[in-house]
Amino acid sequence: MTKSHDYAVRVTAMNGQVRGFAAVTTQLVGEMQRRHHTWPVVSAALGRTATFGAMMGMMLKNDSDRLTIQVQGDGPIGQVVVDADSHGHVRGYVSNPAVDLPLNAKGKLDVAKAVGAGTLNVVKDLGLKEPYRGSVRLISGELGEDFTYYLTSSEQIPSAVGVGVLVERDASILVSGGFIIQLMPETEEAIISRLEEQIAHMPPVTKLLEKGASPEDLLSRILGDDMTVNARLPLSFQCECSKERIYNTLISLGPDEITNIIHEQGKAEVICHFCNETYHISKEELETLLEEAKG
Ligand SMILES: [Zn+2]
Repeated sequence: MTKSHDYAVRVTAMNGQVRGFAAVTTQLVGEMQRRHHTWPVVSAALGRTATFGAMMGMMLKNDSDRLTIQVQGDGPIGQVVVDADSHGHVRGYVSNPAVDLPLNAKGKLDVAKAVGAGTLNVVKDLGLKEPYRGSVRLISGELGEDFTYYLTSSEQIPSAVGVGVLVERDASILVSGGFIIQLMPETEEAIISRLEEQIAHMPPVTKLLEKGASPEDLLSRILGDDMTVNARLPLSFQCECSKERIYNTLISLGPDEITNIIHEQGKAEVICHFCNETYHISKEELETLLEEAKG
């Protein structure tokens, strides 16, 4: 099976009374799985969050806007962190990638137990003095419901979110994706009931993706064919780390700390949380950085 590239769409429907977002994130979540060696239930939690992040990125207005989603539960996977921007670049990590739990009562990966109880935070850097922060408590831990609750209660936009990840036996990602449906302030009651009906009777997102559904297909299931695609955005895993940034981080530690590293370890190994890339910094490089830190 050839895998098509990930992308997200933004649509409007019902005479502009409803807007929708959908994304296929199979490749993106696959890359996260390979980079962080996440076990199935962790891949599901990270993939659901990354899918939501990718769609939220499409809501950002300016080129330089970015957002971070933090799922902070008390479950065994610890924290789930996803960064996304308005260009379809997504990255993320979890505290503990190696978590194994029995399947839940429905025979599915027990994401709720892996995540636990806690809070969902969304931080948006919109180029203003202070970042925008929204926070809600986790009401389910399955994440789709939590994202719905966040949008509806914190951002005050009645929404429905569906996200899903299907993991293969060998822990690789078979499919990943999701949708967001949002009501504009004057959506008619009849339309709301129709949407609720459609969503309630829809097969799981993963079932549709497995059959090859595109983002547009996911949305037309709910909205019908009378929808307008306003934007289409390719999605990819992308981290912003670089040797330059690592240098700057080391310089910011100050001359004493750099001297310590030179004396105690002779070199430095820095791992980027977000992409798991290891940067090796030689003694010569550290000595140059020490000079810069001394300013
Ligand atoms: Zn990185």
